[in-house]
Amino acid sequence: MLEIHQFPCLSDNYGYLIHDPASGETACIDTPDGAEYLRQAAAKGWHITQIWNTHWHPDHAGGNAVIKAATGCLVVGPAEVEKLGTAPDRVIGHGDVVMLGDWDAAVIDVGGHTLGHIAYHVPDAEVAFVGDSIFALGCGRMFEGTADQFWTSLSRIKVLPAATLLYCAHEYTASNARFALYADPGNAALADYAAQITSLRDQGRPTVPTPLARELATNPFLRADDPALAARWGGGDAVATFAALRAAKDTF
Ligand code: ZN
Ligand code: FE
Repeated sequence: MLEIHQFPCLSDNYGYLIHDPASGETACIDTPDGAEYLRQAAAKGWHITQIWNTHWHPDHAGGNAVIKAATGCLVVGPAEVEKLGTAPDRVIGHGDVVMLGDWDAAVIDVGGHTLGHIAYHVPDAEVAFVGDSIFALGCGRMFEGTADQFWTSLSRIKVLPAATLLYCAHEYTASNARFALYADPGNAALADYAAQITSLRDQGRPTVPTPLARELATNPFLRADDPALAARWGGGDAVATFAALRAAKDTF
């Protein structure tokens, strides 16, 4: 079993520690808050051996230095993390494989939110750590990339096994759901899912992780190639539909 420990960090990030009992290895998925990661690892009795960054933003790599100083762990991530001052110990990109014990994670280029954003897919555990590329019912803001690049990135997520659980980095689902219902009003699966989200959030429970199968049916940004959605959003191809949706969400 790959153990995944999820905890809230900063205002609306999720922290993830993943642990392989066989080897004793533990990896931080991003580092929004170094001190909180160290506390959470200590409480689990886990020793952090690696950091896997998804992109350079401070709420994803800002805790690297504190955690590395305390543990001597290996920092793995895209080259762009150097923008925060220190390059990763191991710079990785699309097609690379990183290991936690015997678990392998495939590195997928999901640029668009930032140019160098990557995701980690652990096929044997049926999980993917997707940072700010895709969220439950949403996707990251397009700060650095183009619509074409972002749609290519989402297309790489769409073809993962449908049972894959997507561990996204923020609890944005309730606000994403409001936009999704506006973007895709005729979607019955979306209406059901949005009602579940309201109920979970009313109870203070997380809506993350989310199974890819459900996102494929409900997330408007993953459905930019759906003919009905495209017709509603300008009648262009998937890239044009994605661009229209992303622009509309920015000001929703
Ligand atoms: Zn970000
Ligand atoms: Fe973020």
